[in-house]
Amino acid sequence: MADRFAEGARVGVLTAERLDRVLDYLAPEGGCGTGDFVEVPLGPRRVLGVVWGAGEGGFDAAKLRAVTRVLDAAPMRDELRAFLERAADYTLTPLSAMLRLATRAPGLGDAPSMQKIYRRGAGLPWRMTEPRARVIELLEGYGGLAFTLGELAGEAGVSPTVVKGLVASGAVLEEDTPRDRPYPLLDPARPGLALEGDQAAAAARLCAGVAGGGYGTTLLKGVTGSGKTEVYLEAVAECLRKGRQALVLLPEIALTAEFLARVERRFGARPAEWHSGVTMVERRRLWRMVGRGEAQLVVGARSALFLPFRDLGLIVVDEEHDSSYKQEEGALYNARDMAVLRATLASAQVVLASATPSLESWANAEAGKYARLDLSARFGPAELPEMATIDMRAEDVPAGRWISPRLQRAVAARLAAGRQSLLFLNRRGYAPVTVCRACGHMIGCDHCDARMVEHRFLKRLVCHQCGETKPIPETCPSCGAADKLAPVGPGVERLAEETAALFPGARVAVLSSDLFTTARALKAQIEAIAGGEADIIIGTQLVAKGHNFPLLTLVGVIDADLGLQGSDLRAAERTFQLMRQVAGRAGRGAEQGVALLQTFQPEHPVIRAILTGDEEGFWRAEAAERRAAGMPPYGRLAGIILSAPEARAAFDLGTHLARNDAALRRIGAQLYGPAPAPIARIRGRHRVRLLVKAAKGAPLQAAIRDWLAPVKLPAQVRLAVDIDPQSFF
Ligand code: ADP
Ligand code: ZN
Repeated sequence: MADRFAEGARVGVLTAERLDRVLDYLAPEGGCGTGDFVEVPLGPRRVLGVVWGAGEGGFDAAKLRAVTRVLDAAPMRDELRAFLERAADYTLTPLSAMLRLATRAPGLGDAPSMQKIYRRGAGLPWRMTEPRARVIELLEGYGGLAFTLGELAGEAGVSPTVVKGLVASGAVLEEDTPRDRPYPLLDPARPGLALEGDQAAAAARLCAGVAGGGYGTTLLKGVTGSGKTEVYLEAVAECLRKGRQALVLLPEIALTAEFLARVERRFGARPAEWHSGVTMVERRRLWRMVGRGEAQLVVGARSALFLPFRDLGLIVVDEEHDSSYKQEEGALYNARDMAVLRATLASAQVVLASATPSLESWANAEAGKYARLDLSARFGPAELPEMATIDMRAEDVPAGRWISPRLQRAVAARLAAGRQSLLFLNRRGYAPVTVCRACGHMIGCDHCDARMVEHRFLKRLVCHQCGETKPIPETCPSCGAADKLAPVGPGVERLAEETAALFPGARVAVLSSDLFTTARALKAQIEAIAGGEADIIIGTQLVAKGHNFPLLTLVGVIDADLGLQGSDLRAAERTFQLMRQVAGRAGRGAEQGVALLQTFQPEHPVIRAILTGDEEGFWRAEAAERRAAGMPPYGRLAGIILSAPEARAAFDLGTHLARNDAALRRIGAQLYGPAPAPIARIRGRHRVRLLVKAAKGAPLQAAIRDWLAPVKLPAQVRLAVDIDPQSFF
């Protein structure tokens, strides 16, 4: 039950400003309650805040300022406040930063905004004109339906002043209605597809979990096309029948019109959408409606997890292994793990769906913490693609080319049959390295420790670390030789060039994030390709994510070894997932697909596991290695990144931290570093890294908090803590 505070009582208010403290204020006229959204004075400004509880005291009451006003919004529920607190504790992020995530919609403090609508009034104007008659006829034709001014004028083919004239005469009525309308009702009683075999069994288990009304997490594993979406939509239906709200999280790029249309077909209305492409007006509407329970289902990207649901009963995390669920800037959280946390607090069910789960989720299922459901067979006639390696040591590939003769023949056969091929290369740009043939100099970024990548489409060199770009120079910046700079290695743009030369008549489409300025443009291109508007698709990892290309029957992986070489802990796991997913693109229609992997090391255990499809074997081998090394998920890691314009300042602080690590030693944790981070310079800042490694059950966050508490950050030095780091940048 929310506490009430009478006017003048001391209350603690959390703001979304960059000060990590709950501030004391006096309750306003009429009082306020815990969870209320309020506006408070802060210095010369008025800022948004949430009443977090009783005030702390200790500050002269006479000097306290009063809450300006209580906003007209559903109060933040205890469940969400607890979630923000726990998430802040877990990620060692200031609570105010968490509140920022939970209030990412504009104008939350504004009065409900209104919009004018028009409908038929009574009588006729004393002076009738032809345009006026058209408006009246139109309104009468639509019965009592209301239009906006733009719609009405447009539909009748008149200027807005004609409508206004009719309003003055009373023949047309003008009314104000709230812009933040509830979302159309979804109908969970509509039947879904008839489920078969293990689909039906899995759906029944998920529905039973949702009906039970408590917390639980289930890993739903099945190859692409096995019907995971169909199955979890059944759980969504059950949740809606219970009158609770559901959230489906997708990687941003998988949030396609195709997916939304599918949900609409299932439930008879469009769900609410939450992602970076949604207008501000819609964001605000969604934020308000979700708080009032008038949005039953939200389909969104990772930050939808912070919406103020009134009664959240189910969270689906689709493609749960996807690395984009980890926010890598600001508050460093993993939406998959935070979904589980929120569900425990909301007594909700979580479904983690994937063809290739993360090792964490696999291990949690092994340990019995998560339930696990497997969809074994791919639905209907579509089969998993046949997979084979192309041993590049035995292929005769001319210098400067990357498509082997065998892959070329396979593509040619698809072309002749009117089918699509996908050539996959996880490298954006034209060439990863530009080298001077006279002196051997490789062009690097001026601000980072990275090579500049040639992007011919943009006619520039681009740093993939910091985004710095510069024109392609004509002479070598090191020795001055003219016309000696040469691209080395392939990127998707160069592969497209090779493809066009090998298959002159074919329509070649390149799918790479940097060729599209907006997510919408990219999605439109993907849909065009799915509709058959390309013969050969050249793509980066963008294409690996959940799109359905029915005409696609061949996937050629240009460099299956890429990703096996890194020193990254997760390199093997990522390569395995990516290859399996790319291969899953082939043959989603009625025909059998083929996936060909070009590799120089066909005996590599990861390549072998991909080919034989022995997934459990792969996971067990990976798990055994990580357990032996005490690495996640069998141990815990935290990264500390120090950055400064001068390397010296970051190193000095790192050394100081390493010498004063008693708080870490108390929990038996080990500290590595300071060492230059793998990317030692980004955007002109030098980066130094420390790595803390602890046993699984150790109170890692508390120890890190104690360790860092006495540290005074020198000006210019920044410190970021990354709990459960995904990447080691
Ligand atoms: P996944 O999410 O595992 O990739 P989907 O749920 O998208 O799989 O299913 C793949 C395709 O098979 C979709 O087009 C879906 O409509 C169809 N499908 C799945 N299950 C059934 C079923 N029981 N009856 C008819 N079509 C189905
Ligand atoms: Zn750079």
